[in-house]
Amino acid sequence: MKMTTHKQRGCWPWIFVLVALAGLGLAAGMLAYNWYFGVGESDSNNVIYRYLINPAERPGLTTEGYVACPDAPFILPSQGLIGLLYADPARPYNATRRHTGIDIFGDGPNNTVANVAAYDGWLTRLPDWRSTVIIRHEDPLQPGRTIWTYYTHMASTDGSVSYIDAAFPAGTTNRFVEQGTLLGHQGDYGGDGYSVAMHLHFSIVKGDRNGEFLNEAILENTIDPTPYLGMEVNIAADPKFPIRCASAS
Ligand SMILES: [Zn+2]
Repeated sequence: MKMTTHKQRGCWPWIFVLVALAGLGLAAGMLAYNWYFGVGESDSNNVIYRYLINPAERPGLTTEGYVACPDAPFILPSQGLIGLLYADPARPYNATRRHTGIDIFGDGPNNTVANVAAYDGWLTRLPDWRSTVIIRHEDPLQPGRTIWTYYTHMASTDGSVSYIDAAFPAGTTNRFVEQGTLLGHQGDYGGDGYSVAMHLHFSIVKGDRNGEFLNEAILENTIDPTPYLGMEVNIAADPKFPIRCASAS
């Protein structure tokens, strides 16, 4: 009597292996996606969305502007929702290109929400800057160091109208401004033909050895504003919205 052999014996395990590999690949892909766009790390875009679509939410999400938290050297240079945070990976940023400052979303139309100098310093507006000014400061927290504060998006959607105050025309260099000096008003100009929701992007930028400021778009060239503002604005600390003075406790 002859036994029939079944050659399929080795087939099923291979199918399981392939299915398992596909599943692992999918899981790894989802993990990579979540890491890249900060899913689980950042809730910023949900809060910004709530603020933008529902005016009734705005007062409760607003941080009072133009005043300093207790013991903080800087005043908050605008007023509204502090939405996108420092080192935030939420869109349009990601885990390898994190947000270099804070975004303050004001309540109102373009060119109505004031932006002011966070601290005494010397203002520069390069000749081709439509929506941006930068101010050089003696660092109040590290005496002897020079730092810069950077303010942008101060122009109309298409960039044709600047909302920077007339006191600071393009080409202004090293003009002394006191803390609280009006710099201009919030706009939604994102540069190069794209529009952003109206806000002030505010960041603290390091200087180089020649006394110039470094490229603000690179996180390593910027400083966490948390101790300067006296409020936790670093995504790493997982602060809760709305952002409030840290020393309130
Ligand atoms: Zn920003």
